[in-house]
Amino acid sequence: MALDETHDPGLESFVDVSPDSPFPIQNLPFGVFRPGPGFDPRVGTRIGDTVVDLGVLESRGLFDGPELSGRTVFARPRLNDLLALGRPAWREARATISRLLRRDCGTLRDDESLREIALLPVARCEMLVPAEIGDYTDFYSSRHHATNVGIMFRGPDNALMPNWLHLPVAYHGRSSSIVPSGTPVRRPCGQILPRDAERPVFGPSRLLDFELEVGFLVGPGNPLGEPIPVERAEDHIFGLVLVNDWSARDIQKWEYQPLGPFLSKNFATTVSPWVVTLEALEPFRTEGPVQDPEPLGYLRTPGNPTWDIPLTVALRTESLETPHVIARSNFRHLYWNVRQQLAHHTVTGCNVRPGDLMASGTISGPEKHERGCLLELTWRGEEPIELPDGSTRTFLLDGDEVIITGAAAGDGRRVGFGSCAGRILPARVGGAGS
Ligand code: MN
Repeated sequence: MALDETHDPGLESFVDVSPDSPFPIQNLPFGVFRPGPGFDPRVGTRIGDTVVDLGVLESRGLFDGPELSGRTVFARPRLNDLLALGRPAWREARATISRLLRRDCGTLRDDESLREIALLPVARCEMLVPAEIGDYTDFYSSRHHATNVGIMFRGPDNALMPNWLHLPVAYHGRSSSIVPSGTPVRRPCGQILPRDAERPVFGPSRLLDFELEVGFLVGPGNPLGEPIPVERAEDHIFGLVLVNDWSARDIQKWEYQPLGPFLSKNFATTVSPWVVTLEALEPFRTEGPVQDPEPLGYLRTPGNPTWDIPLTVALRTESLETPHVIARSNFRHLYWNVRQQLAHHTVTGCNVRPGDLMASGTISGPEKHERGCLLELTWRGEEPIELPDGSTRTFLLDGDEVIITGAAAGDGRRVGFGSCAGRILPARVGGAGS
């Protein structure tokens, strides 16, 4: 993908953008929002602290290029129609929006009545899940995470399963419980096998955890029976979102064999509302870890192409005034890249559809402070985290809020996601009525 004028670090908008905003004119993410109670959801972009109603611009005929002219993709309650069109339309949308928001373009700048309905303060807008997500898959693509978890569960000699370095391991997740950032998460109840017990008990999870992840939204997709080759995989990837794959470790430990996670993961998955496009991330391309052994032909991607995206996890508790950063990681630590994930997913002929979500798995780096979940950060609860007010954490308590953020930066550019946050509510009294 080539850089073009939309990436120019010198580009400025007539809309106010503070220098540290993750949403300058070089970003232009896509999301779905409601401009106030009772309004229909529609597609927007964000610049600084302003949401731009793209449905309004579309209805005025301002998307007049060959790919988008005459279509209705923004006055929609979901991104799926835009996702289905593919990269030429995505690039055209970005170029048009970039031009309309530029300081030297008068079309929107000088039309006060249009500005009034198209430019909205972000505080007024309710952000929703950006797409209708038909299917959700969660990979397990961080070698550091898989190794740490493997050591804890099986010991250092069998940390990585024999398949791990040959294929991107994943499980099919649950899309119905994907929620937008800010939605509270209720502590789940389930079957738990107490230490040294022979029979399980039923009750609230006591080992509730987050997982720091990044996911991609699928674009056009493929017909059933026709795999997406690894060389063409990025044509089917629209952009990235932050993901928190909430996990109940005690439920997981009892249920996960032999078929993998089930109820320990299906109660909630939080996503950030703004989808940052691969176009916006292009200046931040880098290479991931060296892959040895070399993957089979259908997974071969020379140089392991990925993006340099620093990520942080902060915890806000009921006794902490400001969120405290407990982990820093980076998307580039992932061993398997997004092209390989999508090529592997479809190699059987499995069809993926516009709006499908594929998450990375917990993104841990090589260092201790780069571990992407509490299971690793506290080493199964044996090494509690100390917080600035003197309190400690092993796993999440009721009232705790987990806030994931991510932003790529460099060469005078900053392209960020905003945040992916959720606060823990107490378990339902009486669980499922046991
Ligand atoms: Mn996960």
